[in-house]
Amino acid sequence: MRWGIGLALLFAAPLLQAAELKDLRVWDGPDSTRVVFDISAASRPTVFTLANPDRVVVDLSGLDAASIKRASRALPKGFVKQIRSGPRDDGIRVVLDVTGSVDAKSFELAPNEEYGHRVVVDLVRNSAASPGDSETAAPVPAPAAVPPAASTSGGTRLQDKPIVVAIDAGHGGEDPGARGASGLQEKDVSLSIARKLALLINTQPNMRAVLTRDGDYYVGLRQRVEIARKHQADMFVSVHCNAFTKREMQGTAVYVLSDRGVTNEQARWLANKENAADLVGGVELHGKDNDLAAVLIDLSQSATMEASFDIGSRILRSMGQVNNLQKSDVQQAAFVVLKAPDIPSVLVETAFITNPHEEKLLASEDYQGKLAASIFTGVKGYFQTYRPKQQLVEVSPRFTKVATKAAQD
Ligand SMILES: [Zn+2]
Repeated sequence: MRWGIGLALLFAAPLLQAAELKDLRVWDGPDSTRVVFDISAASRPTVFTLANPDRVVVDLSGLDAASIKRASRALPKGFVKQIRSGPRDDGIRVVLDVTGSVDAKSFELAPNEEYGHRVVVDLVRNSAASPGDSETAAPVPAPAAVPPAASTSGGTRLQDKPIVVAIDAGHGGEDPGARGASGLQEKDVSLSIARKLALLINTQPNMRAVLTRDGDYYVGLRQRVEIARKHQADMFVSVHCNAFTKREMQGTAVYVLSDRGVTNEQARWLANKENAADLVGGVELHGKDNDLAAVLIDLSQSATMEASFDIGSRILRSMGQVNNLQKSDVQQAAFVVLKAPDIPSVLVETAFITNPHEEKLLASEDYQGKLAASIFTGVKGYFQTYRPKQQLVEVSPRFTKVATKAAQD
């Protein structure tokens, strides 16, 4: 028997081909640059940084050195100014020449519908960089120079604080979202509609739009919520395209957060699809964030949910003027991006990218504009009825957002 196994191994060994580097992509975001290695089999990278000059070294063992030429085809972007590569031991070494001191974090991704095995290296500016290296070296004011009442600045700012609407273009970068039969990608459609919606909002004297992403790069789902909170957003609107295995499925749907689980199967399927995006955000999102998520879910079962339903139904009504509705009521699902406890949040599935007719519509600038305008009508209608009380003058540390049934402006 032992002999038999040995023989089998002997014959199996030559069949094991060296894995190949299939592609190398660089995505540039405002705060980080992501380098993605597509490889034909899982490989654990060794990543380290070197200074003078600043560079990041990525060793991929077990890769066929002949596939190295694919590395040289990638275009440098963001922090990466040059890409060099060469054979190394039993694999490949790729050297990323970078524009300054960076921190490099790497993780592996398993195959999905779009890509095979990947090694991802995220480059973030090193905040402990030497003085003169970047704007982070600005002098820090002495503690005494900071007035003790600094925490009340939010109160004073409130007087003329415009209404802030956070607009979240779904997916981006390494995460394309859903894809239509003709190759249209959800990440591109969602960004285009989001930008059009932002333009409309910014035409209002008292309204300001904040885009959670404004380019083709990935932003973690919780990070999107963080961006909205940092800008003290009064509303969060996430823009997506729907997808399903059946091509006939069509129409617009609007979602708010479900408070307890997901009630229907399609909503569960959809929530899995949208939330799965965060797998590309890296391994560290798991674990500690789950506790936070649990707290946020509890907190969100309050006035914020009421407001979310209100906004959602207004948006649904106005979108019904430009497209069929998949569901005539606001739906609920456990979308991570809707979990801000204090910001009314909705997720709009504009149309089905997997439906050939709707895919054609989604690809058209004109129709994207109509979708953006109809979302805007719903958003504006909400604030015309319930707008944040802007005449708050008193500076109170116990500040809570007050929504009044004010007259229209
Ligand atoms: Zn999506």
